[in-house]
Amino acid sequence: MNTPETLRTLIMPEIVKNGGFVNAHAHADRAFTLDANTLSIYRTQTLERKWDAVDQMKRNSTVDDYYRRFCQTIELMIAQGVSAMCSFVDIDPAAGDRAITAALKAREHYQDQITVLFANQTLKGVIDPEARHWFDLGAQMVDVIGALPKRDERDFGRGSEALDIVLGTAKSMNKMVHVHVDQFNHAREYETELLCDKTIEHGMRHRVVAIHGISIAAHSKQYRKRLYEKLRESGVMMIACPMAWIDTPRSEFIAPSHNSLTPVDELLPAGVPVALGTDNICDAMVPFCEGDLWRELSLLSAGCRFMDFDEIVKIATTYGRQALGLIPAQESGATKDAANEEHYVRSAIL
Ligand SMILES: [Zn+2]
Repeated sequence: MNTPETLRTLIMPEIVKNGGFVNAHAHADRAFTLDANTLSIYRTQTLERKWDAVDQMKRNSTVDDYYRRFCQTIELMIAQGVSAMCSFVDIDPAAGDRAITAALKAREHYQDQITVLFANQTLKGVIDPEARHWFDLGAQMVDVIGALPKRDERDFGRGSEALDIVLGTAKSMNKMVHVHVDQFNHAREYETELLCDKTIEHGMRHRVVAIHGISIAAHSKQYRKRLYEKLRESGVMMIACPMAWIDTPRSEFIAPSHNSLTPVDELLPAGVPVALGTDNICDAMVPFCEGDLWRELSLLSAGCRFMDFDEIVKIATTYGRQALGLIPAQESGATKDAANEEHYVRSAIL
């Protein structure tokens, strides 16, 4: 009996031909930490409260605990044919340097099977002096400078200043930047636009990647069109992690009809590359995500009603490599930007 034809059997060979999946965003240091405590955090805490609610688990985690999580995640990626990945790593007062120590050891162990990059998660922000100490230390140890400007916006009303610190640090170290933005599916958020403005201000065109951008689709069509133009102008790429946001709580806010997903159906035709990530895997933030790249890709494509199969393959592969700086940044569709020799240099080093 022949295998029935599914979208998976049609698309997967093209993904393999294109070099295999790229998981452009994960938090492997907290993967596979489901227990009564973390599940209770998931059920009872808001996202902003979870930034601190996972502290106890982080404090209790030894280098060996972290190492086991990185190995389990990396092996799960290799088993699916993932050829490159980028994981954020908590380097902060609660985790200390234990997670990054384990991460570097795990990367070395699997170096002949998969390219692994690390970014520093800044769950505690970069303004608080102790958080800043760990940010500065972490920045030295990672490949990509990571950010969560909402933390400093919430605590101090200084999200914009946090981006200045992050982008300034990245520029001085010649590293790319991955920033969590617009996560709350709400038209009061303008973080992606702020990130584009700051990227241009700091001269970081094609060196910055926005993660999530869920709130973009809650804005009006006129605003979205202006934003896509800014994304192109600043060369800011996007990463979509569908399972991480599909559980966004119902609200009574009025907005254009949309799903809680990164709007790939508009971003890609507008020339903005969108990569794919699993984000958190089986932890207090996202217990439902099992790190399955195909499931992420099919959810994104179905949820956004996105039917361009060539571009779907690129979301899973080429655009991921661009977001990780492994190949030169390029607009989705056409036009190669010649100003990206640095990316070639970087991929040669890797
Ligand atoms: Zn994340």
